[in-house]
Amino acid sequence: MMMKFDPATNHPVLDFKGKHLIKGETDGSSYPNGGLRATHCAGGYLAIDTSSPIFLRGDTIFIPSALVSYYGAALDEKTPVLRANAALNKHGGRLLKHLGLDISKKGGLVTNIGLEQEIFLISRDQYYRRPDLQFTGRTIIGKMSARGQEMSDHYMAPLSTATPALACMQEIQDECWKLGIPLKTRHREVAPNQYEFAPLFGSNTTQIDQNLMVMQIIEEVAVRHGLTALLHEKPFTGINGSGKHNNWSIATGDGVQLLLPKDINKATGKDYAFSVILAAIVAAVDEYGDLMRMSIASPGNDFRLGACEAPPAIVSCYLGDDMTFFMEHFKDGKKGGEYVPNVKTLDLGVSEILPFEVPSEDRNRTSPFPYGGARFEFRAVGSSQNTSMVNTVLNTITAAKFCEFADRMDAGESAVDIAKDALNKHWKVVFNGNGYDPKNQEMLTQRGVWRIDSGVEAMHRLTAEKNIKVFQSMKVLSKEECEARETVLFNHYVGTVEMEALTLIDMINQHIIPSVKAANVGPLSELEASVKLIKDALSGIHHADSSYDKAKLARVLRLETMMNIRTICDDAEAVVPANLWTLATYKELLFLDSHVGPNMEEVYDE
Ligand code: ADP
Ligand code: MG
Repeated sequence: MMMKFDPATNHPVLDFKGKHLIKGETDGSSYPNGGLRATHCAGGYLAIDTSSPIFLRGDTIFIPSALVSYYGAALDEKTPVLRANAALNKHGGRLLKHLGLDISKKGGLVTNIGLEQEIFLISRDQYYRRPDLQFTGRTIIGKMSARGQEMSDHYMAPLSTATPALACMQEIQDECWKLGIPLKTRHREVAPNQYEFAPLFGSNTTQIDQNLMVMQIIEEVAVRHGLTALLHEKPFTGINGSGKHNNWSIATGDGVQLLLPKDINKATGKDYAFSVILAAIVAAVDEYGDLMRMSIASPGNDFRLGACEAPPAIVSCYLGDDMTFFMEHFKDGKKGGEYVPNVKTLDLGVSEILPFEVPSEDRNRTSPFPYGGARFEFRAVGSSQNTSMVNTVLNTITAAKFCEFADRMDAGESAVDIAKDALNKHWKVVFNGNGYDPKNQEMLTQRGVWRIDSGVEAMHRLTAEKNIKVFQSMKVLSKEECEARETVLFNHYVGTVEMEALTLIDMINQHIIPSVKAANVGPLSELEASVKLIKDALSGIHHADSSYDKAKLARVLRLETMMNIRTICDDAEAVVPANLWTLATYKELLFLDSHVGPNMEEVYDE
């Protein structure tokens, strides 16, 4: 695109025009589109997103762009985010105007997010000995090693140079800084071989695009250190999975934070402004918790959410004791005034360490959506996800509530009355206790807080009538776009499960059965029967009618049939002598310094 032949001389010359950056027509009608772009109407256009910076990496220019069909339907992740931002800006602006703050000439509203990224780093040699990791990003089978997460000693362990992980983490951070991606923290995480990065927060489109680049850089740099990075939500059973905390806040273009009480109350001159905004968000979470759950229904999250591992698939909202107390009084009309976060002093009683101040609010890591001072943190997001849909949903449902509030104020109701009303109606979603406790989960379910254990059912909420309505009314997604997207989600899910099932068949036939035979121990006939079970289930999926039906069957195959078969495989692993077991074990995968790895001198000489 950037070259042509000079007609006078026939010499090649550079021909780089701005218009080539602004718009492009793209091929690739095989890109999943849920029917929005069939082969006979396959036009697709890329248009530059001016809200997110261009990257130059190596000899390639990366231009953040929207991808839409010939008719303007969103095929991509980006267009809906931009539309949701516009909705939030519009209706947030109306609400703030009623509260006494005109932001039309102050750059409108921006949504800031910070995406904490968790990963695993494992030896590349061992990765080559695991077809399941190579094809599906997770271990479909594998007996837990004798040592796991018992000591919880990975997080606080020293920055050791005994393994290549530290140098790898340093180089990842370095590469990101070169591209202007401000990864400010890097640290070890709880599970063995688990690590995390977090950036300085910024506008949502920028952060999402940068996070995609961060994930790519992580994968590439790991290879240079003899490692493989796993971005999957649950690469290993029996230890923690990986998430991507989506820290989320709203600010005016000139920097007034809407979720920071003193900031927004001062800017509006109303001591209740923050309470009104918080009431709208609480109402949004309660009413549209199903959409939040939908937005995190990635295949990998199947193993983290809903009974498997926390945070639970129940979408409640943590406010903290002080804030809850304050809002309770506000909604009951008992006390007005401003919320001022308390601080308390910790005195360790020794002369070497001065007493210091801490927030009076504790942290709750069992809540999927805790408030944390100036932001909410959506903690249930999956580590491998593109977080566009997550942020599309957060902004759409918040915009819808801002709109509802503003409409009622247009009709003459007072902001405080509307906020009280919303809080009374939606208070059930506020929960500060331990979300991992089954008793609390039961209680929240009884209360009617959104709980959707099945990822497939969560995806199906995308076309629930009330949800299509909110997307339509906020001009974020049309009915057709919701339906297409749901189909894409189902197909993606089914494809994922199919790859896992076929990989498992190969591993049983090509590795486990031969090992069991060579050792003359283990559950041979059960293994043979298992292969047949998987094949039958796959055939059942292929014969099902709709994408939805296929996805439901795939979920049963994955979470019931294949889980049972896993037990049989892991029983075999437990009895086959190590020298006859041909797959990498959890011991070899999870402890970088517990096996003979690549020759580090060779790795670093390159
Ligand atoms: P923790 O692990 O305790 O949740 P971290 O410091 O690892 O906290 O990550 C916090 C993330 O939240 C960072 O990416 C940070 O930039 C982001 N963040 C902090 N304040 C805000 C805010 N007001 N809006 C959006 N993101 C924020
Ligand atoms: Mg966090």
